[in-house]
Amino acid sequence: MNKKGYAEFSGIVLSIRKHKEKDALIKIFTLEFGKKMFFIRNYNKSNSPMKSALLPFTYASYIGSINENGLSFIQDYKEAETFSAIQKDIYRNAYATYLANLADAAIEDSIPNSHIFQLLLSCYQSISNGFDAEMITNIFEVNMLKYFGVYPELEACRICGSKQEPFDYSAKYSGVLCQNHFSEDPNRLHIAPAAIYFSRMFLKISPDQVSSIKLKPENKEAIRSFIDFFYDEYVGMKLKSKSYIDQMYQWENAFTIPVRSSKNTKEDVIEENEEEV
Ligand SMILES: [Zn+2]
Repeated sequence: MNKKGYAEFSGIVLSIRKHKEKDALIKIFTLEFGKKMFFIRNYNKSNSPMKSALLPFTYASYIGSINENGLSFIQDYKEAETFSAIQKDIYRNAYATYLANLADAAIEDSIPNSHIFQLLLSCYQSISNGFDAEMITNIFEVNMLKYFGVYPELEACRICGSKQEPFDYSAKYSGVLCQNHFSEDPNRLHIAPAAIYFSRMFLKISPDQVSSIKLKPENKEAIRSFIDFFYDEYVGMKLKSKSYIDQMYQWENAFTIPVRSSKNTKEDVIEENEEEV
């Protein structure tokens, strides 16, 4: 930071809140100073010059004054990546919003965290590039668990240390059990072994690597419910944006399952549509 108090920093826009008629309070996750709240005057005026660099999910290099306590301010920006492919798509937008909310919940104000910053950025780049948003979200979720104090052992059996799969998950032992030790916990999760396998893998790969992974729908579902289990049971946080995704998922299945279930159903659906036209 120079003598006037201006600093150059990289940031990702986490949330935008309207303030009075024309102004806004924008939460930006900065690489250098952690999460900060910025006061943006005249943001809600249609010709606001700063708006293009302060849209949701935007990654940019900003110039502004950072205050230790209270609000910070932005003077200008140099480069901005607005991820327009995410802005325009309701489905990608929903996942990106959830990731922003999850990052927001995981990090403290004013404490830099380059791991979360780089991961969030790389998730947005991959979602923007059209890779599987659901899998990318799962990668972000499993990586965030430790910031909520949740460290499930997914590598080796908690009883004998064996790495021989299939595993099941035991809440009692806070980790996986190998087949020889399933009997140690009758209340084990009975989760599909693939859910454990991929959750472990998601801790090690980068978001753009999902382009090389093809998952069966039932395995995707198992991974979802395995990760949800940790968030419901241990993190104990249900974000609105996550509930929205869950709803979206239910609608999707409500519309696709009858079509898949039999040929007759499919014909019925087509006939109905033709009549309507
Ligand atoms: Zn074992």
